[in-house]
Amino acid sequence: MKSRLIKILGGIALLAVILLIVAFTAGPGMLERSLNRVIDHRPHQISAEAQEFHDSLLVADWHADTMLWKRNLLERAKRGHVDLPRLRDGGIGLQMFTTVTKTPRDMNVHENDSASDNITAVSYLQLWPGATHNSLLARALYQAEKLDGFIKKSAGGLMWVRSKTELAAFLAAREGSAATAPIGAMLGSEGGHPLEGRIENLDKMYAAGFRMIGLTHFFDNELGGSLHGTSKAGLTEFGRSVVTRMDDLGMIIDLAHSSVQTARDTLALTKRPVVVSHTGFRGACDSERNFPDRLMKAIAAKGGVIAVGLWHQAICGTTPEAVANSLAYGIALVGADHVALGSDWDGAVAAMPSDHTPAITAALLKRGISEDDIRKVMGGSSIAFLQKWLPD
Ligand SMILES: [Zn+2]
Repeated sequence: MKSRLIKILGGIALLAVILLIVAFTAGPGMLERSLNRVIDHRPHQISAEAQEFHDSLLVADWHADTMLWKRNLLERAKRGHVDLPRLRDGGIGLQMFTTVTKTPRDMNVHENDSASDNITAVSYLQLWPGATHNSLLARALYQAEKLDGFIKKSAGGLMWVRSKTELAAFLAAREGSAATAPIGAMLGSEGGHPLEGRIENLDKMYAAGFRMIGLTHFFDNELGGSLHGTSKAGLTEFGRSVVTRMDDLGMIIDLAHSSVQTARDTLALTKRPVVVSHTGFRGACDSERNFPDRLMKAIAAKGGVIAVGLWHQAICGTTPEAVANSLAYGIALVGADHVALGSDWDGAVAAMPSDHTPAITAALLKRGISEDDIRKVMGGSSIAFLQKWLPD
C-alpha cells in the first residue's frame, strides 16, 4: 500500500519535472513566436539599381525590443525580427535596442492602468536573475548587460555607440568592406519606470549604456501620463526633474508612448531636440497610436527626429509600400531631416523582419522620393542627429 503511494507520488513528481523542463526550454520560443509575428511580403520587387543604392546607405533604426527575448543576438534565428546576421542581410548599420520592463495585461493603445504586469512571468519563464522578478531597474540593467555581453562576444561585429567619440570610431570602422562592416548598437528604455521614482537611478542607467529613455510606456508612471494611460496627464514634478537631468547628461528623450500633454510639457522644458522612436503620422494613418500632425510639426521645429514604425497601428499596413507611404507623408509634412526608421522589431508586433529592409528603399524609389531624401530617412537624418546630440 505504502510502496504504491510512493510510486504514484514519484510518477507525479517525474511528470511535473518533465512539464517544467518543457516549459522552460520550449516556452520562451513559443511565447516569442506568438508575439513577434514575422510578416513575409516576398517576393520583393527590388531592382539591381535599388539594391545597389540601398547598399550605399547607412541605415539606422531607432527601436528594437530584442533584448527582452531568450535568444542569441549573434545567431540567425527562425523567430522574431532581429539578429546580427539578419541585420547584416538587411543592410542595417545602426540599431537602437530598447528594454521592456513592465507591460499591462490586455495591453491596448487606448487605456491601461499600471496594476498588472506581464514581464514578471516572462522573467521567471526565461530564468532571469532573481533581482529581476520584482525590480524594474534590475530588468533594465539585466537587458543592458545582455547587450553588452553580445557586443563583447561579437568580435567586432557589433560596436557600442554611446558617445560622439564612439560614433566617430564606428563610422570610421564602416569605411572598409561591407561584408565585415560592424553594426552599431545603442541602448534605450521603453519608459522611465525602471528609475523606480529615484533620480539617482538615471545615473545607474547612464553608466549601463542607456542613452535614450522613453518617458512612459503603456501606462502612466512616476514621470507622467502615457498616450495609452488612464489620466492622459502631463509631466509630474519627478518627470520634470528627469527631463532636466537627461538634458544635463546628454541623454535623448523619446516621446513614443507619451501622452500629448507629456509631449507638450517636455517640449516646453527640454533644451534639446527629442526623438519619437517608433510611431506613425496621424495624417497618413489615423490611429490612436500616433500623435496629431501639429504636435509632430512642433517636435520637428525643435530639431527632433520622428521614426516611423513597420506595424499596423503605426502605418495602417505592414507592406514596404505602407512604410513608404508614411515616410513620404512625413517628408512632406516636416522634411526628410526629421524623419527616420523606428521599426519596433521584436516589440510584440507583426512586422517584416530586419533582413527585408531593402524592400523599403525600393518602395521609396518606386514612389519617386529623391535619393537625397531616401538617404536621410533611411539613416542619414538619424546619424546627423546623433553626431550633434550624443554626449562627447
Ligand atoms: Zn513601444
